[in-house]
Amino acid sequence: MADLRKCIGSARFRIDGHEAPVTDFPVQPSHKDGLGRMCKVHWNQYTAALRKAAGTAKAEPGADEPEPSEAKSRARAKTAEAEQESAETHTE
Ligand SMILES: [Zn+2]
Repeated sequence: MADLRKCIGSARFRIDGHEAPVTDFPVQPSHKDGLGRMCKVHWNQYTAALRKAAGTAKAEPGADEPEPSEAKSRARAKTAEAEQESAETHTE
C-alpha cells in the first residue's frame, strides 16, 4: 500500500493541493526527502505554466514576433488605402 503524500499545488496557477500516492511524485534528488512537492501531473502543469508566463514576458524569437509586426504592417497598409480613398473623395 503506497503512502500518501501532500501535493502542495500552486495558488499562483490555481492548482489545488491534495493527497496523492508517493509513487505519483517525481523523484527530485535535490530535495531533502528525494521527492518533488507536487505530483507529476501538477508538476507538469506548473512548469508548463511557468514557461508560458516566462514566454509572454520575454518573447521567444520566431514565436511571438512575426505575427504582431505582420498585423501592424497590414493595419498600416489598410490605413494608407483609407487615406488615399478619403483624399480622392476630398478632391471633389
Ligand atoms: Zn497534484
